[in-house]
Amino acid sequence: MGFNIAIDGPAGAGKSTIAKKIAKKLGFIYVDTGAMYRAIGLYLLEKGVNYEDEQQIGRAIQDIQIAISYRDGEQQVMLNGENVSAKIRTEEVGNMASKTSKYPVVREKLLELQRSLASSADVLMDGRDIGTCILPNADLKIFLTADAGVRAKRRYLELTEKGISCNIEDIEKDIIERDRRDTTRAIAPLKKAEDAVEVDTSHMTIDEVVDTIVSMVVSRRG
Ligand code: C5P
Repeated sequence: MGFNIAIDGPAGAGKSTIAKKIAKKLGFIYVDTGAMYRAIGLYLLEKGVNYEDEQQIGRAIQDIQIAISYRDGEQQVMLNGENVSAKIRTEEVGNMASKTSKYPVVREKLLELQRSLASSADVLMDGRDIGTCILPNADLKIFLTADAGVRAKRRYLELTEKGISCNIEDIEKDIIERDRRDTTRAIAPLKKAEDAVEVDTSHMTIDEVVDTIVSMVVSRRG
């Protein structure tokens, strides 16, 4: 059993940027669980499945294969053998993931994969329910937050840097709506685990957040 770090928080709080840097510094494997929900979202969009039709979603995802591999240290998501890591990064796919992640059939599909990834190595896993559901015994739990306006600005910069044109007001509305869905769903809602440390990144640089969390890991590991 390795050392497990769980990082949860709302969309755009900086989880993946920060988690990647910490993983690199500490030699941990980074597992981005949002990418797995996005792969399912992509599949459902491509198949034209209605996000409100739980039964159809259940049937559609029954036989799909989601797997994770690593290339140059970067997580790759494979959907039925196809590398979909780039395709899943659109707002459309993110919204479909957020609309369909509330269904038990979707969450169960990914549970074992996520737990098995954490069981054998030093892993840093980010998502919404890692500290509360997936790795309740994680050695360190972080709840990463930031103001919605700050998160919208970060997501806007990230998308425009990739050449994707977007509107900051729409992104903020999407983020607020996604937070509402993620925090109010009946199963595995986004919430701070009782034993998680909350880090508000609104007024912190990426390096400050990374250093803060790395020093927590160092002190816990002894
Ligand atoms: O983090 P990311 O934006 O890639 O996640 C996409 C969506 O997947 C989230 O809005 C959330 O609904 C869902 N998700 C989840 N549980 C996780 C990770 C992501 O429900 N552990």
